[in-house]
Amino acid sequence: MLSAQFWQGVRSAFLDCVGSRDHSHDFNHYRSELLIVRVRLFAALFGLASPVWIPIDRWLLPDEILGSMMALRAVAGLALLILALLPARPTLAAARVRVAALLLITLAFYLAVEGLAGATFTTPSLIGYTALPLLLVAILALLPLTLLESAALQLLVGAVVIGVHAWFGHLGDRGVLGLLWVLLLFIGFALLAQGFQLHLLLLIHRQATRDSLTGLFNRGALLRHATHVLDEGRGRGTPYAVLMIDLDRFKLINDTYGHLAGDNVLRAVATVMARQLSAECLPGRFGGEEFLLLMGNTRLPQALAQGERLRSAIAELVVETGSGPLTVTTSIGVAEGLPGEALEQVIRRADQALYTAKEKGRNLVVS
Ligand code: GH3
Ligand code: MG
Ligand code: MG
Repeated sequence: MLSAQFWQGVRSAFLDCVGSRDHSHDFNHYRSELLIVRVRLFAALFGLASPVWIPIDRWLLPDEILGSMMALRAVAGLALLILALLPARPTLAAARVRVAALLLITLAFYLAVEGLAGATFTTPSLIGYTALPLLLVAILALLPLTLLESAALQLLVGAVVIGVHAWFGHLGDRGVLGLLWVLLLFIGFALLAQGFQLHLLLLIHRQATRDSLTGLFNRGALLRHATHVLDEGRGRGTPYAVLMIDLDRFKLINDTYGHLAGDNVLRAVATVMARQLSAECLPGRFGGEEFLLLMGNTRLPQALAQGERLRSAIAELVVETGSGPLTVTTSIGVAEGLPGEALEQVIRRADQALYTAKEKGRNLVVS
């Protein structure tokens, strides 16, 4: 019997693949980059292959449509090459536009070919063109799309194929019904492939970017993520602040209660941070018993107030250990990013403030 935990895992993996709502900003950035690179690759490949196919068309196609087909190939090939060369910022919106553009160019080409041939199903030399929607579905399967994104695009492919054959009045033909059946199978397998692909990507990405003890972002992911957020905010002049958080006399806790108790304290502090913070806040484990908190769209007074809330919430924390309950305090250094200042410099100023807090006696928030 499969356990309830197994089904819970399947359910959460499925929900993860449905949409991007619960994906981290960092993962969205990574996925956008992947999507844009793959769309470029396919667009370049088909753009360049389009004229190469002309000699084969010459050999296979009837003379009366050959000229128009060459013109169509030239236009579609050019559009694909432009798509391949167009620069893009790695955002989900830009990536989705590019995937849609790849699909629309190919579908427009397919529609034009079908229009040109009229009744392709009776023209065996055009069977390759008739199978174009299948190729499109296969291409979509190679892109790391969410199930919703993919379903919307596949639905469009299906609607276009049905529309074309309804228009020409051969929707009831056995050949057309056969094509639609194969298309449906392709779409089903493409959705499965995409779900598996996205699940694996998320799994690997989470393992590579999370700190295994606390579940917060690790240092590398936090800094990369922070750089993306700041790059986006800089154009709009959005302020931000950095909080450096260091547990007080943590070595003493380890020495008194043992490392396992120390680990539990780190976990408990991370839970408090994750629970306390708004969506604008990005907490991560900077190293050892130090945490870094990036607050987007925040000025110094709000950052100080958030630091104070965090300091007092952690001071109220009671962690049970084998040798009785223990409490822990934190010192927090706060700095607001100045215009033109690099993130590294802001972190350095927050670190200096943290040292001042330690010197002043700990359990303090200093800017
Ligand atoms: P201060 O108030 O000046 O910050 O004193 P401190 O003792 O917190 O600072 P110090 O840098 O001397 O010690 C940090 C300790 O944190 C030493 C190290 O053993 C402990 N530590 C670092 N990472 C972990 C961890 O993952 N688990 C546990 N249990 N301890 C850790
Ligand atoms: Mg410390
Ligand atoms: Mg330290």
